[in-house]
Amino acid sequence: MNPDLAALCTPDCPELAPVVAGLQSAGAPVAVCRAALGHLTDPTMPAVELASSAGATLEDVPAAYSLLRGDRAVAALTASMFYPHRLKHRLAVRTVAEWSAEPARLARLLAGEPVLAQTVEIHPSKGTCNYRCAMCLWSDKTTLTYATRGLKARGLLSTQQWLDTIEDLRTHGVQTLVISGGGEALLNPDLPAILRRARNVGLRTQLYTTGYNLRRAAPGLWEEIARTHRVRLSIHSPIQATYAQITGLPTELHALRRVGEHAGGCSIYATGSAARCDWESDSS
Ligand code: SF4
Repeated sequence: MNPDLAALCTPDCPELAPVVAGLQSAGAPVAVCRAALGHLTDPTMPAVELASSAGATLEDVPAAYSLLRGDRAVAALTASMFYPHRLKHRLAVRTVAEWSAEPARLARLLAGEPVLAQTVEIHPSKGTCNYRCAMCLWSDKTTLTYATRGLKARGLLSTQQWLDTIEDLRTHGVQTLVISGGGEALLNPDLPAILRRARNVGLRTQLYTTGYNLRRAAPGLWEEIARTHRVRLSIHSPIQATYAQITGLPTELHALRRVGEHAGGCSIYATGSAARCDWESDSS
């Protein structure tokens, strides 16, 4: 066994041994095998971090995913009764380590005082969306609304209120801000200001979007998206017909294809304060 990979079969995870043997016999490069094992160990790790921790390139990551999909030992491991417990154990270790690193926070918790989560999700949309998903409160403006459901909202927060909230969250120890909806966040013209404030106060930011509107994002928004730590595209189905059915968009819009192009054809280059995006094709 390659000693570089054998080192990953630590005594506290002996189940990885047959997986390592299987990956090696597939003849994959060591970096790809390391990325595959890293993904098995922590399936939530983003691709960029996975590549970095495995000493692999970003191109190695999809190769690692493919390797895992076809491997019998991996299928046996993930279906075993041990695997979910390994992941829970890892989460518990990480959680204890995080709390231990901040004794003052732990003391507040033990004293019954309020503490904020380190990650907070906000919904700074305008309460609307250009999709019409069957299951979503934000999808149509007549039936599935707050008012018709008896959930009368007193209005959405103003941009200034969001900016103040972001400062408060940071002051109280929040480290990561997830920006999602409640509607599609990219439709809020003040989103760049909100992202900028989060960045300026030192928050890590994550943006959740359908990706449909990325192409029309103004340059100022691109500058902020380029500095966002993670962008997640919500794709309700990988099948065009099902995607159109769920989202309520006309099939002739080819929304799924468009989102795929935005995801795959978009490269962001952040240089100083400038950002640009390149599109591989022009179908919209
Ligand atoms: S894309 Fe999201 S916010 Fe928009 S309608 Fe669908 S589920 Fe709702």
